[in-house]
This record gives sequence, C-alpha cells and structure tokens, in this order.
Amino acid sequence: MYDIIVIGAGIAGVSAAAELAADAKVLLLELEARPGMHATGRSAAYYAPTYGNAVVQNLTAASESFFRRPPAGFTDNPLLRPRDALFVGTPVQALSIAEMQAENPSLIAMSAEDLVRRVPIVKPGVLAQGLLDPVGGDLDVDAILQGYLRLYQQRDGELRTRSGVKGLRYHEGLWHVDLGAETVTAAIVVNAAGAWADSVAALAAVKPLGLVPKRRTAILLKAPPSVDIADWPLLIDVDEQFYFKPDAGQILLSPADETPSVPCDAQADELDIAVAMDRFLRVVDLDVQSINHRWAGLRTFAPDKTFVVGFDGQAKGFFWLAGQGGYGVQSAPGMANLARHLLLKTTLSAADKRLRDSVEAVAPTRFST
Ligand SMILES: Cc1cc2nc3c(=O)[nH]c(=O)nc-3n(C[C@H](O)[C@H](O)[C@H](O)COP(=O)(O)OP(=O)(O)OC[C@H]3O[C@@H](n4cnc5c(N)ncnc54)[C@H](O)[C@@H]3O)c2cc1C
Repeated sequence: MYDIIVIGAGIAGVSAAAELAADAKVLLLELEARPGMHATGRSAAYYAPTYGNAVVQNLTAASESFFRRPPAGFTDNPLLRPRDALFVGTPVQALSIAEMQAENPSLIAMSAEDLVRRVPIVKPGVLAQGLLDPVGGDLDVDAILQGYLRLYQQRDGELRTRSGVKGLRYHEGLWHVDLGAETVTAAIVVNAAGAWADSVAALAAVKPLGLVPKRRTAILLKAPPSVDIADWPLLIDVDEQFYFKPDAGQILLSPADETPSVPCDAQADELDIAVAMDRFLRVVDLDVQSINHRWAGLRTFAPDKTFVVGFDGQAKGFFWLAGQGGYGVQSAPGMANLARHLLLKTTLSAADKRLRDSVEAVAPTRFST
C-alpha cells in the first residue's frame, strides 16, 4: 500500500512525485515505456514569464528560482539560459501591440529597423514594430525531467512504466488502482495524466472538468548558411499566429495552432505545416529546401485556461494536477510545490506568497455548480 499514487509521468507528475517522496510513500504510474513521451517531450522549451493569465504568470514566476538555482546534485546543465522574446506586428496589428504594451509596461519598444537588426532574415518593410521581453529563456526540458526523476529515486519513490491505469475504485478509505495484471492501493491518487486527465477522472467515476487537449505543431528548419542564429530572440507574432526561435542550430517554427483533439499520440498535420510555412515566409526571407523534423503535441486547457490543482470537491482523496496548457514546463516547480503543500497540508512560508495567492484560483472546486 502507498500513501499517494501519481498517475502520469510527464513533467507535472514527475515533479510532484519527487516533491512528495520526501515525506510520503509514492508510486508513479506511466502508461508509456518511459516518462515524458507526450506533451512534455514535445514542447518548445521556452520560459515566458509574461505568457498566460495572471495565475499562470504567478506560478511561472514561482518556478524561476528553481530553474536558476536547482537543488545541489539536481543537474550538471543550466536549466534556464537567457533568450529574449520579441513580440512583433505588421502595421495592421498596431492595436494589438499597443494593448500588449499597456498590459506589460516593462516591455521594450523596438522599431522596424531594430527588428531586422536582431533577426536579419526578417523582410524589411513587413513588420512595423516589436516589443522586447528580456526576461525569458530556453529551458532544458530533458535535464529538468531527468533531474526530478533522479531526486524521486533518491527519495525512494517507485516508478512503473508500461503501467496504464485501467480502472479506479474508492472503497473503505482507499483508492484501488487497476493496472490489469494487479491492483495497487493508496489513500490519495493524483491525476497528472495531461490530455487524458478527464478520461482518468471518468475511470474513477469522478465528474470530468471539461479539459480540452489542443494540438500544437512544430517543425525544424535548416538555418541560413553562414549566419550565427544562436542569439536570435524567440520571435512571436503579437496575435500568436506563429513563432520561431533557434533550437540547437536549427530554426524551430510553430503556427501556434490550437486544434481541439481527443487525447492521443498527436501527429503533425500537413495543413498545419503549410500554414506555418505561409505565415513564416510572409515575414522572413529564407530559402527553405526541406523540413528536417516535424511533430505535434497536445496542450490541455481547462475552460478558463487556468491550471487545476487541488482535491476534487466530491471524490475523497482524488487530487487534480491538470490543465497545464502551454505553460506546463515553465510552471512545473511552482506547481509541484503547490501540490505538495495541498496534499501534505504543510504550511506555506512568507516566501511562498505566490503559491498561497494561487490556491483558490486553481482549485478544481471552482467548476462546481
Ligand atoms: C508544440 C508544443 C510547444 C510547447 N511549448 C511549451 C513551452 O515553450 N513552455 C512550456 O512551459 N510549455 C510548453 N508546452 C506545454 C507543455 O509541454 C505542457 O504543458 C506539459 O508538458 C504538460 O505536462 P503534463 O505532465 O501535464 O502532460 P504530459 O507530458 O502529456 O504527461 C501526461 C502523462 O500521463 C500519461 N498517462 C495518460 N493516461 C494514463 C493512464 N491511464 N495511466 C498512466 N499514465 C497515463 C501519459 O502517457 C503521459 O506521459 C508546449 C507543448 C507543445 C505540444
């Protein structure tokens, strides 16, 4: 018997399991052969503190110190490397730029000439202006995931892969988790199943929350010859129609699609790739001969686009850690700490103000009628 069973070994489940294992006997269950195979392994790996609503921004900010100063022995690699974000608009998007600047006064205004200087493939005369956010960066997602897995193992946490949960039944104060060949039990289950979080709730006869997985596509393109792209910013359309950034010597491009999907092993769609290329080539001058790699993943959103962290209002011992949307990596340390606090009923210190301020906004009970 375990204290807590965490379902899903993406970044949400792995980080929470690692935090919980310091004080509880934890079992982490993953359907696939290894952790991080779905949304977590397919992200654009960017840390954008101005992205998402105020709650998302708060929990992202609560994660920054972990990325900058992880615990001793967590990793040998920097988890967060500086990379500016540059929001751009054509002349017809002037209003969107003005609104963004009003909401984020710390962003630095950039002229059309500045944009071409920063990213020389930008076609002169197409983009009118930009806003520079100098506080973002690239995340090393694999180092974060592996670091948490190591921490989890050091704390005697147990991970079982190829162990998809097939059924969940609450009986006499315990959750009985059906894995097919055997049943494991715990007083608490944590639903960190990403795109499958509502399906896992349904297995437990818990009311789903209306989480919607949305497909997002990404492709890798060859960088222009003899140009050092390493220090280019993440360049993002102010209305989120596309973005691109350097990725290990190549250009990672996304059409920023959000196509609702059933939970599945998402694949890149030809039409989304064509849309990405069309939007990209309107703005840049680049001779694209081929696409080096393509993929898609599911970003799963609650109806209000805010995270869902907390005990279900009806089902005893059923804890939600879901709805990470497009911000699940950058907010993982904060979310894992918040989950630990709510699950183990620890006291939040003054330094944890950001977490305390988020408790109500992320509670699943906000959806109860
Ligand atoms: C193209 C793209 C770009 C992105 N860019 C960024 C970015 O720049 N920055 C950022 O912070 N975020 C980004 N995201 C979002 C981020 O990837 C997600 O928010 C995050 O990975 C979600 O993590 P998760 O653990 O909730 O889900 P997942 O990683 O999907 O993990 C859920 C796990 O649950 C398992 N599971 C499901 N059902 C069961 C079951 N019945 N039993 C056992 N296990 C089960 C699945 O196999 C899966 O491994 C991006 C996403 C995409 C697709």
